[in-house]
Amino acid sequence: MSRTLVTSALLYANGPLHFGHIAGAYLPADIYTRALRMAGEDVLAVSGSDDHGVAITIAAEKAGEDYASYVAGWNARMRETFAALDIRYDIVSGTSTSPPHADLSREFFERLDANGYLKERTTDQLYCATDEMFLADRYVQGTCYVCGHTPARGDECPSCGTWIDPLKLKEPSCKICGTAPETRSTTHWYLDLPKLRDEKIGAWIKGHEWKSNVAGFIENLLEDVPERAITRDMKWGVSLPASVGERGEGKVLYVWFDAPIGYISFTKELMVERGTPDAWKDWWQSEDTSLVHFIGKDNIPFHCLVFPSMLYGAKDGYVLPAHVPANEFYNLKGGKFSTSEGNAFDIPNFVEQYGADVTRFYLCSSMPETADSEFSMELFIQTANTALAGTIGNLAQRVLKFIDKNAEGKIPAIHDDHRAEMDACILNECGAIEDPVEHIRAFRFRRAAEAIVQNAAVGNRFIDQMAPWALRKEDPVKGESSLATLCEWLSWTARWMAPIMPTKAQELWSMLGQQGQVLDQPAPGLPRAETWRTLRAGTPLGEIVAMFPRLELPETE
Ligand SMILES: [Zn+2]
Ligand SMILES: [Zn+2]
Repeated sequence: MSRTLVTSALLYANGPLHFGHIAGAYLPADIYTRALRMAGEDVLAVSGSDDHGVAITIAAEKAGEDYASYVAGWNARMRETFAALDIRYDIVSGTSTSPPHADLSREFFERLDANGYLKERTTDQLYCATDEMFLADRYVQGTCYVCGHTPARGDECPSCGTWIDPLKLKEPSCKICGTAPETRSTTHWYLDLPKLRDEKIGAWIKGHEWKSNVAGFIENLLEDVPERAITRDMKWGVSLPASVGERGEGKVLYVWFDAPIGYISFTKELMVERGTPDAWKDWWQSEDTSLVHFIGKDNIPFHCLVFPSMLYGAKDGYVLPAHVPANEFYNLKGGKFSTSEGNAFDIPNFVEQYGADVTRFYLCSSMPETADSEFSMELFIQTANTALAGTIGNLAQRVLKFIDKNAEGKIPAIHDDHRAEMDACILNECGAIEDPVEHIRAFRFRRAAEAIVQNAAVGNRFIDQMAPWALRKEDPVKGESSLATLCEWLSWTARWMAPIMPTKAQELWSMLGQQGQVLDQPAPGLPRAETWRTLRAGTPLGEIVAMFPRLELPETE
């Protein structure tokens, strides 16, 4: 059976998730996973945090925390955010805590080395004799050799933007102790990306069908592929394999190298927990797997070129990605998402105020699929009130309240005399009907959100056309048939909604008196006249509640 392995970009553990991340890599992964599962497919969803690297050690030192508890704090906050938004993975782990991660990362190093894709080089680097360590770029500051700005960091000048070679910085000093560093030689390993490109990955990239915005991005990627250092002189990270001996002392794998291996480590970790320790291979080393990386566009070179090169170069039968549905950037209209706790855009706080599904729906409907897009508070409120309360909620209220009052609160029966007329009306004459799951499969998330509302509008037009309130007096049997048809429509609406708005879909499903979880229902597809009616007449409705309370724009402070 074919399988789909879904990954979301690992969150760099030195800050919280904001809506930009969520709309870019996490919500689409969750919606996609739920939709495919409704379609009966075997899906595994994996994410977590990327815990290593200099930016983290510096931030942790500044915060006065040890590295492990610093990253654990951000990892915990990430989980809270996922829980608030009902974003679910089979596993959320972290590269510093996942038990198989260090060994697996070292295994990649050794496999790539054995297969001739690593090069060893000795270069000069700045070394602080006081702190007894090589100074990674961000641990050095000095005067920019291009514009004279002080202080320029060891990786970038904040004034002129030059990518700094730390060895050329004027008057360099150690950021930890302030003393002048000396130059010492050090050995590092480099991934031979040009060789991997020429041997396999270049042709693979050219022959692969990419999402349109990704294709534009990677066209130029292959021209200038550098060899990249995969090791660093640092303490926080994955230490090198014992096989390299003394030369590996004081060094760790570069964070960019071990981070994506996290996807595999976390899968391994999960399968150990499930008691099937070898089952990770079915996902990572099987041609039946469709590997899908959900990422933001800044991660495209990495997931389309570098990680595939590593997967191929290990020569262990790893699958290469089938889809990299990268999103563009998602910004806050007129500002930046401030994510400090308690702030309006602190996600758990926001969701508590407005609800998870309304937030999910709006993010989905404004997702930066093909171009940058933005979150607008005005449009958020408008979407909640018009598309959700005004169209979907309104349909449910009109139908179910009416039945509650006038039809004993039970799903009415369709009478054979009316079946053909009603089917023709709702399926053909009240507007276009689209299958949201088909759009989700094709990574058209915005269109999927629109389709749900569009389909609900079909139900509203059917009510206006049939006018059940008038039929109740003129032709009560036909009135019942129209209400039966509308109940069927609501049950389709619930199933269409489920991947994007799981809680609201379940609410609607329960109001219709249906048992079990709506997400356990088969993906609905499109209704066909012969088969689309599935409800049992006489089923008592559940408690009728207002699905989408109207929202007010917050007063500006
Ligand atoms: Zn400068
Ligand atoms: Zn120092």
